[in-house]
Amino acid sequence: MRVESGEWRVECFTIHSPPFQFIIVHCLKGGLYKRMSEENTLLVSHTENSTELLGPYRRFVIWVHGCCFDCEGCLAENTKNGSYTAWKIQELAETIASCDVEGITVSGGEPFLQANALYAMLRQLQSLKEMGVIIYTGFTLEELRRKDDCNRLLSMTDLLIDGRYVRELDDGRAYIGSSNQRLHYLSDRYKTVGQVYYAAAKRRAEIKFTANQAVLIGVPSKGVLDVWQKIKEKAGGMSGDF
Ligand code: SF4
Repeated sequence: MRVESGEWRVECFTIHSPPFQFIIVHCLKGGLYKRMSEENTLLVSHTENSTELLGPYRRFVIWVHGCCFDCEGCLAENTKNGSYTAWKIQELAETIASCDVEGITVSGGEPFLQANALYAMLRQLQSLKEMGVIIYTGFTLEELRRKDDCNRLLSMTDLLIDGRYVRELDDGRAYIGSSNQRLHYLSDRYKTVGQVYYAAAKRRAEIKFTANQAVLIGVPSKGVLDVWQKIKEKAGGMSGDF
């Protein structure tokens, strides 16, 4: 069910197996919106067990489902409109802990729309295995600091990359979408290695194929982006616009 009125859109939907009901309240004017879901469940568009393209060292990556922004040129449309999995946070934490990675990167979609569930998952994860945490968000740090649940999630975050993607400000910087986006070292963990990693001259990204999906990992250069657009045109229904 979906109802839209003025500034607000309310969506209600049910997943039958396992049985969950979700209500999502969107603020259409771009402010924070609340996702009210089971706190022990995280809605995830895609995961990747190991990559070095979204932060220093080998990382597990989660692309969360859902975003409240509408950045022109968004490369992650599929995380807004495509399919997703409702992960139990315990199960997701155990899956990540079993991987040979230094840490986790959370992208999207918009991670802070599920701040409570993500916080709970990271707590579970840290109790199983100590890991570094990097989060890409469309909100600015100042916007996030106004919300208690977001502050709680920030307290678990080592490095935050913030701000909407602005196509006109896309200057080709490695690992960052546009020049307005900032790196906030919220702990010392990546301060030294991050200076080198994010100063890299070239963007790196890869396109990975699975049985029924193509997945774009990393922030693409113009060349990779052109290839990606051609793949999508040819594939027709193929999803995986991450
Ligand atoms: S914040 Fe990210 S996922 Fe959301 S619309 Fe902007 S670029 Fe796309």
